[in-house]
Amino acid sequence: MAEPASPAKLIDGKVYAERLRGQVAEEVTRLRREHGLQPGLAVVLVGEDPASQIYVRSKGEHSLAVGMHSVIHRLPEDTSQHELLRLVAELNVDPLIHGILVQVPLPAHIDENAVAGAINPDKDVDGLHVVNAGRLASGQPALTPCTPAGCMFLLRETLGDLTGLRAVVVGRGRLVGRPLAQLLLQADCTVTMAHSRTRDLPAVCREGDILVAAVGRPRMIKGDWIKPGAVVIDVGINRVPFDDPVKAAAGRPKVVGDIDFKSASKVAGWITPVPGGVGLMTVAVLLQNTVTAARRQAGLEAA
Ligand code: NDP
Repeated sequence: MAEPASPAKLIDGKVYAERLRGQVAEEVTRLRREHGLQPGLAVVLVGEDPASQIYVRSKGEHSLAVGMHSVIHRLPEDTSQHELLRLVAELNVDPLIHGILVQVPLPAHIDENAVAGAINPDKDVDGLHVVNAGRLASGQPALTPCTPAGCMFLLRETLGDLTGLRAVVVGRGRLVGRPLAQLLLQADCTVTMAHSRTRDLPAVCREGDILVAAVGRPRMIKGDWIKPGAVVIDVGINRVPFDDPVKAAAGRPKVVGDIDFKSASKVAGWITPVPGGVGLMTVAVLLQNTVTAARRQAGLEAA
């Protein structure tokens, strides 16, 4: 590992997300030209959750921008699980759609696992179907959840070969921590998964050449939990009130990560900001997963 820079170098998610989207756009152009294949993405939104509406709009805009076929289904909050599953079944057999994403969280009356399980695993561009989770865990090619795959892109761009590095992942959620640990293992890291029951978490974190936080607790990980020079990836998205009373009074929250950026950036070698880090990668990987799914469904690549 390189010596720590002071302050840490920023891993700019905007730059890397643009790069990945550029690669995807080139591949879409090539697929259309050489194979007459236009990758298609369907995004389904149930209800009016404000953050979900922003994410879904962004997914639609970016998929169009790279030349994909893009469809957004906006369903009312009181859509029944049966109606949602019927739409998923239609999309599963729609030849123009290669990737299906049902935005979470879903309203409380809908079972997210039942919906994830109803998506054709070959079109499961969110990588949440148990078939894809199983493929990932057993080291087979899988459609991988977008945020962890985005973290891997950033780590590879920053460090190159990850072989033999100690990686500590804090958080074992099914969206991020768990699949990311599998990806780091596939990249030949020595992986520790930490969680709410981990003893002496600061000491465990200090072992990591790579430290990833996917917890959902604002600024939990402090500078003195970090190995000097480590690469720190902050997945957390937490909305907290502004310190400035004028901004706080305006009502809009501030977005911060799980890492205490101020103290961490004095110790880490590289660090992702929040916002402007991992979050921007998620949509870019979704587009990449849709291209991968389209190629496999067209028989251009092994499943
Ligand atoms: P989950 O709720 O699924 O998982 C949170 C994990 O954090 C759990 O494993 C939990 O442990 C662990 N945890 C909670 N408190 C502590 C603690 N005090 N010490 C150590 N570990 C703790 O969350 P997600 O994985 O879905 O999301 C995590 C964060 O990432 C959130 O802030 C979310 O908003 C963000 N996120 C960001 C995305 C992006 O695009 N940037 C995409 C998805 C999520 P245990 O299992 O023991 O309960």
